[in-house]
Amino acid sequence: MSRLRGHHLICLNFFRGEGYSQEFAENIREIIESSSLQVVFGPDDVCLKCPHLENKTCMYSENSEEHVTELDQRAYRLLDVYPGDQITWESIKERIPEIMKSWRDFACSDCDWRAVCEENEEWKSL
Ligand code: SF4
Repeated sequence: MSRLRGHHLICLNFFRGEGYSQEFAENIREIIESSSLQVVFGPDDVCLKCPHLENKTCMYSENSEEHVTELDQRAYRLLDVYPGDQITWESIKERIPEIMKSWRDFACSDCDWRAVCEENEEWKSL
């Protein structure tokens, strides 16, 4: 079982191998193959291999901890899943089409990974 925070439950649907390092990307590949997921609050199994995690805090940029926490909270509400829930990728994927407009408006405009998603046919079609 993999542990995932809110915004990763959405963003990893569009992962195509990119990442901060090879180890980071390989870890995500394994997470995507997990048959079950546990929703968590705060650092998850993606963050654990991230070079920006320090003392259980996201140090990607100034205010990034607050920013990713806001993203997570919006993702929980949109997906209607909350920390402690055990879910599957299939149940998340079913919800992605109906939430993507709201998510894109809220999260994607100032995301540093936006260029990656803009090349993703599935992301563009939603
Ligand atoms: S940038 Fe922050 S939220 Fe994203 S994986 Fe790294 S520590 Fe986690």
